[in-house]
Amino acid sequence: MKALRFYGGKDIRLEDIPEPQPGPDQVKIKVKWCGVCGSDVHEYLAGPIMIPVKRPHPLTGRQAPITGGHEFSGEVVAVGDKVAQFQVGDRVTVRPTMPCYQCYYCKRGQHIQCVKLGSMGGAADGAFADYVVAPVDNVYKLPDSISYEAASFVEPLACCVHAVKRGRMEPGTTVAVIGAGPIGLLTMQSAIACGAGDVFVFEFLPERMRLAKELGATEVINPKEVDPGKTIAKLTDGRRADMVFECAGPCEAMLLADTVCGRGGTIVEVGLMTEPCNFPFINLFMREKSIITSQGYVDEFPAAISLLARGQVKCDPMMISAKVKLEEAFEKGIKELTSERKLQHCKILVSPEL
Ligand SMILES: [Zn+2]
Ligand SMILES: [Zn+2]
Repeated sequence: MKALRFYGGKDIRLEDIPEPQPGPDQVKIKVKWCGVCGSDVHEYLAGPIMIPVKRPHPLTGRQAPITGGHEFSGEVVAVGDKVAQFQVGDRVTVRPTMPCYQCYYCKRGQHIQCVKLGSMGGAADGAFADYVVAPVDNVYKLPDSISYEAASFVEPLACCVHAVKRGRMEPGTTVAVIGAGPIGLLTMQSAIACGAGDVFVFEFLPERMRLAKELGATEVINPKEVDPGKTIAKLTDGRRADMVFECAGPCEAMLLADTVCGRGGTIVEVGLMTEPCNFPFINLFMREKSIITSQGYVDEFPAAISLLARGQVKCDPMMISAKVKLEEAFEKGIKELTSERKLQHCKILVSPEL
């Protein structure tokens, strides 16, 4: 079968490899769709980060080359001897994280902090391939109301549901979202589904501004055209936002989050800030604001599936900006998102069946 394999930084190859066979506790899945994630692009540009190159991963025993892709859906085509809860033909999605279930953090239910954490598409083969095998504990059945396309959004949506949980958002909370890329749009919809009051989205790209409005934002504000702090103050009787989800990443986005966050408010950092940031902590102190970080997810897959099944979060087709063949996943997927055209994209989906 064909597979897109990560060898290390800037070295990704499409190769022919044998089809994987399921172990006793695994299922084999025919991949339908797999989203290209910002972390795939980051792995390509700045890696190796997730991919173990020098020594085998402590949990999976694997090292490069490893097949990428962790946001996927597919159909079960074979099950291991000990698997009773899945059958051939089941429509599924997969939680790619592989915790050890034995360390201090795993035992406290904080799997994302597992000291040996691995993940499919990082420390085990992922779904930029015709087939993938997954441990049965990681597999979730899909209701018929969720298309395979939409199901490839369950993984990033789980990150966004986790962010709302980390923020402990209360009903009626005035929310701001910084950045309307895939994570910003999914976080915005999760917050609305979980009872947010007014939701103000800060974004400057026209297409993303349009999407944010279409998907439920109360108001979309272009921080390059108006004073963002004064604008949100005017819309909220001077209070600004109670909770800000920072979903962009760069330092300026964090500074903007501070500007639009009101007294006693909370900033939830969902974006990936890779560089140190010169941040005015005195603003937090004087107004008793908090910063909370949110990384990945623990057990938010059922909630994410439920939000999609009920139509409370919409992603298909609005958030899909391109569908590409597996053979083109590098050129028209990962590499495309390193070009100037990346700003025109929302989510690129890859399929081995195109
Ligand atoms: Zn991802
Ligand atoms: Zn662990």
